[in-house]
Amino acid sequence: MGSGVDRTAEIGANLKAVEARIAAACQAAGRGRAEVTLVAVTKTYPAEDVRILAGLGVRDVGENRDQEAAVKARECAGLPLRWHFVGQLQTNKVRSVVAYADVIHSVDRPRLAEAISREAVRAGREVTCLLQVALDDDPGRGGVRPADLPALADAVAAAGGLVLGGVMAVAPLGEEPGKAFARLAEISRSVRERHPGAAMVSAGMSGDLSEAVACGATHVRIGTALLGRRKPFVR
Ligand SMILES: *Cc1c(COP(=O)(O)O)cnc(C)c1O
Repeated sequence: MGSGVDRTAEIGANLKAVEARIAAACQAAGRGRAEVTLVAVTKTYPAEDVRILAGLGVRDVGENRDQEAAVKARECAGLPLRWHFVGQLQTNKVRSVVAYADVIHSVDRPRLAEAISREAVRAGREVTCLLQVALDDDPGRGGVRPADLPALADAVAAAGGLVLGGVMAVAPLGEEPGKAFARLAEISRSVRERHPGAAMVSAGMSGDLSEAVACGATHVRIGTALLGRRKPFVR
């Protein structure tokens, strides 16, 4: 790795390119740029990179493992950032996550929603929850099945300390992302019939952000295109 100056220049150039892609996708979809929030996914990268992103004007960062995120959020305390938790979440990590996360994108079962509510109330915090939807039948990736979504949405909307923000999904492997995101858009519409405020749609990563924006994504979660390819890690 080079000097901090080099890294700042590298991330700056990447950010410019990502911004251009988002702007082009918004324009193609007839949407305003302000309708889409860039969430920089900083997992596996150091707090120094988060600091650089903040200096470049990024205000939303995402992490997927509590162990790593908790330390990083503490190291970055004082920066004007919203922290998004985007990974699968075990109930025994909820207390830690609620201490720093403003938005949790991976709420996919009532027990988890109850645990987040309990800790949010205890901490006197308000946590925005997105319901992660399974767009295929792969149980390993998390996500509530569309059939179980209405009950989960009602539970989150009624729970203390929680705000039902909307929905989130990861495009299934082996399917054209645009088709999957079109299903998510339909699901978002049905959630909003009962919960008009739940307008957030978290979809799109480095490889498929344009398709996501075309389908109404309000939050794109971008890691690789901003910070580079992650080294594989062993859990
Ligand atoms: C890592 C991750 C991302 C970012 O993916 P890239 O392809 O690196 O942009 C987005 N969403 C979730 C849930 C992730 O875990």
